Amino acid sequence: MWKELEELKRQFPLLDYLRRHNWIPCQVGHRQEFVGLCPLHAETHPSFYVNAVKNVFYCHGCGRGGDLINFAQFYFDLPFLSTLAHLRHELGLTASSESALLDEAAAFYQSQLNHHEPALDYLNQRGLRDPDLIRHLGIGYAPGGSLRRHLTALGHPLERLIDSGLVTREGRDTFFRRVMFPCREDGHCTNLYGRSIAVAPAHRFLPRPKAGLFAWETVRQSSSVILVEGLFDLALLWQSGFLNTTCAMGTNLTPAQFAQLCDRQSRQVFLAFDSDVNRRGQDAAAALALRLEHAGLKACIVDLPPGQDPNSYFCSGAGAPDFAGCLARAQEAQP
Ligand SMILES: [Zn+2]
Repeated sequence: MWKELEELKRQFPLLDYLRRHNWIPCQVGHRQEFVGLCPLHAETHPSFYVNAVKNVFYCHGCGRGGDLINFAQFYFDLPFLSTLAHLRHELGLTASSESALLDEAAAFYQSQLNHHEPALDYLNQRGLRDPDLIRHLGIGYAPGGSLRRHLTALGHPLERLIDSGLVTREGRDTFFRRVMFPCREDGHCTNLYGRSIAVAPAHRFLPRPKAGLFAWETVRQSSSVILVEGLFDLALLWQSGFLNTTCAMGTNLTPAQFAQLCDRQSRQVFLAFDSDVNRRGQDAAAALALRLEHAGLKACIVDLPPGQDPNSYFCSGAGAPDFAGCLARAQEAQP
């Protein structure tokens, strides 16, 4: 393992890796030392140093430092082993077999959807009615008890199905009676989100890195972007014509997702988080809005009626003009 780590770090110097993630370095004197804004915390004065000879970094702002692996661990907010898996994938060191497997699982779930009335009822009840959009988003259904058989028949060894998290150690399908959303990046499935239609715990992902922002390759073209918490919020907004909506799968953005939002300076971001009674969503939106403003973006907080999220707002009878009204009334963050 140690040898592999050293090889990885030698093959992909930290400075090159940071540049891949749009870090802008400034050389310090004549030494192989560089400084720039810290990708791990919000700041306006550069305090993130990279020593290209030693291949390490240190940030005087947040006190974090280390090598390529440590950086990726902080940046993607992952445990050690998942960080390695993610780096291997990101740097093209694994065969694309992993994402091919997830693509096949997603395709199987999608093929099941129309055969299961309760799943269609569930989508209908959540306000998702446009068959073209359901197909476009790749939404499917996991009845449970048939994915393992399907994938092993396609030649995937059971061990790999277990490693991917699609099948449990006991050999059962992980997703059971769940409406399935594939999270895709660059056209490939990077994770699967399963929403229970029964009494099972409401939702779960496969145990792997949180993907980037949903459909970012298309949404990033817009100069104004709507960010929501959940995939059903996104689906209803897309259905109502707000195609510039993306989703971070929760209110906590990984540094990588935050960097995606900031890849265009003049961008306006509307934060349409849940309007929770305990103000959890509103507080998260306020904190994120300030960070975005610090990073040079324009951030506005969308106020929904108490207790509503974008999904339930549309289900309660609101239409596109109502939501457009919410956007027009959205408040800019107050520093
Ligand atoms: Zn820092």
